[in-house]
Amino acid sequence: MSHANGEVILGDCVIGYFEYDGTSDVVAGGRYYDTREEVYKNWRKQPTVWCEDGEHPKVGVFLYTDYAYGYFWPAVICPTCNIVTEGRYPSDELIQNRIAHATGIKYYWDSWPLDGHPLRVGIQDISYDWSWPCEAES
Ligand SMILES: [Zn+2]
Repeated sequence: MSHANGEVILGDCVIGYFEYDGTSDVVAGGRYYDTREEVYKNWRKQPTVWCEDGEHPKVGVFLYTDYAYGYFWPAVICPTCNIVTEGRYPSDELIQNRIAHATGIKYYWDSWPLDGHPLRVGIQDISYDWSWPCEAES
């Protein structure tokens, strides 16, 4: 199908879930949820939302989708709003370069998105100035 599952990964944790629109290659609507059930409840009718509070802390994460063979890329979220604020499109070079600058991970820049899942390929450390209590994926 053209829509697929997505995960928000912070450090070695999956902290959220989203619907990925594989036709437009974008996080559908921009919101992520605490559970997959909430994603399915809004499947194909995700409202487009943005964080409208510049004071909210932003956090560098990876977004993963199982679309096609599965791939991931860096992004920025607002954990207060549960919204992806930058990097909704894995191919958006302008945004990715800004993220790379903010997170200091320019090293990987030329190859986004990368195939696979960040936790399974061992690339996970792009989070910055934020800690999130969660359980590591086993
Ligand atoms: Zn916000």
